[in-house]
Amino acid sequence: MFKKILVANRGEIALRIQRACRELGVKAVMVYSEADRDAKYVRLAEEAVCIGPAPSNLSYLNMPAIISAAEVTDAEAIHPGYGFLSENADFAERVEKSGFQFIGPTPESIRIMGDKVSAKQAMIKAGVPCVPGSEGELPDDPVQIRRTAKAVGYPVIIKAAGGGGGRGMRVVHTEAALINAVAMTKAEAGAAFGNPAVYMEKFLQNPRHIEIQILADKHKNAVYLGERDCSMQRRHQKILEEAPAPGINRKLIERIGERCVAACKKIGYRGAGTFEFLYEDGEFYFIEMNTRVQVEHPVTEMVTGVDIVKTQIMVAAGEKLPFTQRDIVMRGHAIECRVNAEDPYKFVPSPGRITMWHAPGGPGVRVDSHIYTNYFVPPNYDSMVGKIIVHGDTREQAMARMRTALAETVVEGINTNIPLHRELMVDAKFMDGGTNIHYLEHWLEQHKR
Ligand code: ADP
Repeated sequence: MFKKILVANRGEIALRIQRACRELGVKAVMVYSEADRDAKYVRLAEEAVCIGPAPSNLSYLNMPAIISAAEVTDAEAIHPGYGFLSENADFAERVEKSGFQFIGPTPESIRIMGDKVSAKQAMIKAGVPCVPGSEGELPDDPVQIRRTAKAVGYPVIIKAAGGGGGRGMRVVHTEAALINAVAMTKAEAGAAFGNPAVYMEKFLQNPRHIEIQILADKHKNAVYLGERDCSMQRRHQKILEEAPAPGINRKLIERIGERCVAACKKIGYRGAGTFEFLYEDGEFYFIEMNTRVQVEHPVTEMVTGVDIVKTQIMVAAGEKLPFTQRDIVMRGHAIECRVNAEDPYKFVPSPGRITMWHAPGGPGVRVDSHIYTNYFVPPNYDSMVGKIIVHGDTREQAMARMRTALAETVVEGINTNIPLHRELMVDAKFMDGGTNIHYLEHWLEQHKR
């Protein structure tokens, strides 16, 4: 096992990784920007290194600063968390070339999966079902683009090969709008992701977003840890997640889980990863793979009892997975609400000083957050300031626990989306389970204020 790890991230996930290190008896070096100097996980760290000013491109995205922080502190490995450099193959490569272990898959795996076109091609080869669409990148020829769209069938969605975070996508309903939409998506993709390549998929009308968590070691062992339902989204961004996915046949999940495991073995994948699918009419369609730990990993931890972050570190150190597929049993139901510093209905970010923070508690309640009373939420980063996660024997019990937890939670001084979560937890359709990816947007439309 490593003696020392550098945590190349901030906020709740930096704290989450610090906690995993403590449990493993591994020293964690925290890095921070000038805006995060006062964070408790920085103050309470055995070692912490300032890597630059507040803007992420000068700190959390600053590769030389992060690698030299690992050098000066004698860390052996670097955990990238999520966001920032976590899915940057060049960073993973530089980390390894500098003599550190990157806690994640190989740079090659990140590269293949980071390009959605090559990811899809790899999945088709590995026998994972994908959304019907263009064979790879769309060509420039309008005649060919029209022919592809006709074959796929309208509506179609044009997606950037290098896209992420719900950006770089455009739905097209008619042939008249097609060529212009492709050109616009290409131009945006080039500007936003430095890669103008786009591809086409059938636009599924009412799918759910279901994803499979996997863990793999360096010894060709891999398991899947069941699924998560992340259909509650606004602008393609998840706001609450649950496990298991309500109302989906376990046999179907097993079948798709086994496919994901087989794909991992085929591509030599190691570490934690997530296969994201759209699910419609009993069928799964792969959309992309995330080659890192995800925000919503705690719901899986709650139902399986597996510590995903600890396992990531163990397999990066060369250890074998300490369990086999047969050991993985999902028990009960878990729900996670992401707490964002923003207006709950207008979604305007709301950074600033938290004058009062009271966290919920009680049986089956877990809070992953770095905030505290008097903490200042910097305006420079993502608005998520924490997660409230609950576990219950049944979905009903989990929802009841979430309602209690949300009722207990107090955040003053800034706006948060907790009022929205409170409303969703008593929404009849959500309570029935199985809402699709458009449900939250429609709900917000109907509850405009
Ligand atoms: P990103 O990497 O930006 O998150 P994804 O490919 O994972 O992009 O897609 C994000 C979301 O966009 C999905 O969860 C879904 O809501 C929507 N989406 C993507 N592809 C399709 C499709 N073919 N049909 C319908 N919705 C889609």
